[in-house]
Amino acid sequence: MGHPCLSCGACCAHFRVAFHWSEADPTTGGITPAGLTEAFDPHRVVMRGTQSRTPRCVALHGEVGRQVACSIYAQRPSPCHALVAAWENGLPSPQCDRARLAHGLPVLTPLQWAEPVAVQTDAGDAALPVFDAIAQAPDEAAMEGQPPLLLHAERAPAAPA
Ligand code: SF4
Ligand code: SF4
Repeated sequence: MGHPCLSCGACCAHFRVAFHWSEADPTTGGITPAGLTEAFDPHRVVMRGTQSRTPRCVALHGEVGRQVACSIYAQRPSPCHALVAAWENGLPSPQCDRARLAHGLPVLTPLQWAEPVAVQTDAGDAALPVFDAIAQAPDEAAMEGQPPLLLHAERAPAAPA
């Protein structure tokens, strides 16, 4: 059975994916392509496309709800590592549910994982986001009408050599 994320992608087209700028700065060890990001605030950047009123990450390939792939899977930022599909690890994921429902997709259930699913890899665009619990954005209320903010622990810049 295929991993459900590979026929979903809803979270990549629902949240504003914000993370510390250093994740996209090679001089601090960042690996997310800077050209696929844009400024958000003095400390954070976002994946391009996710600030839109109809958000969709520029790195997402395919059709949401049918067949999708992250074109920078091995270089995706921390929020994308952090969000895990609902029940994949035996735990609910309100963010996964929220994104799927917003795209008219049914939420995942524990039964989804009753059979083994295809293993995701870090090989190119072979797989999709693995998202997890997301901190509530303190300024989300001020951004009414914009995509909900997808945040995760900000990575501190690497210490100078
Ligand atoms: S984490 Fe949930 S919303 Fe995101 S791609 Fe996977 S199944 Fe879809
Ligand atoms: S997993 Fe990839 S396509 Fe999805 S939001 Fe993150 S970078 Fe964009």
